[in-house]
Amino acid sequence: MTVKNRKIVKSSKQWVIKNADIDLDFIPRYKVIYREIKYPRIELKTGNLVVVAPYGYKKIKELLIKKQDWISKKIKIIQSALKNNGRKKIYNRTENEFKKIILSFISKYSNRFGISPQKVFYRKMNSKWASCSNSGNIIINKIVSFLPVQLIKYIIFHEMIHLKIKKHNAEFFNILKKEFNYYEKYEKILMEYWFKIQNIEENKKN
Ligand SMILES: [Zn+2]
Repeated sequence: MTVKNRKIVKSSKQWVIKNADIDLDFIPRYKVIYREIKYPRIELKTGNLVVVAPYGYKKIKELLIKKQDWISKKIKIIQSALKNNGRKKIYNRTENEFKKIILSFISKYSNRFGISPQKVFYRKMNSKWASCSNSGNIIINKIVSFLPVQLIKYIIFHEMIHLKIKKHNAEFFNILKKEFNYYEKYEKILMEYWFKIQNIEENKKN
């Protein structure tokens, strides 16, 4: 492995090697983060490759070669999502404004479905817009706040169905389709927003 121009940022929690170059042509640049963990993993949250590895881990190149197909496929999907997201408007709402929108949709659909969540939580989540727990709580990713109202509505509707139907089965999609005929389009736009927001959040950190 050849590492050129490497910039190591050391903190108490982790070591970061930025812009590590490796002689693999399917992925020219990546970042390595060393942490107090047991097993290495590969992340592509922003479209940039990040290897998170335990301190002293030496088989990064082998790991990347092993996961090459998965990485290439994933990068392609992310790149095409990023291509389409230039014009997507990011909304800046206060926490109050955001919660008001969420709660208004929840109460609207609670009335319609005759079921309401136990509690609503707002959290930072790494891989989901929202989720519904077995105990009937709805958890909303804080970054939902950046989305247009129509997409927020779609996300809430999805989670409200989960209060009745846990799985993404035919019954689930029947209900979803009745309200959002073109739900695949919503999913696609959501994915484009996802990567746009992940990149904005990542840039804020740097
Ligand atoms: Zn779901």
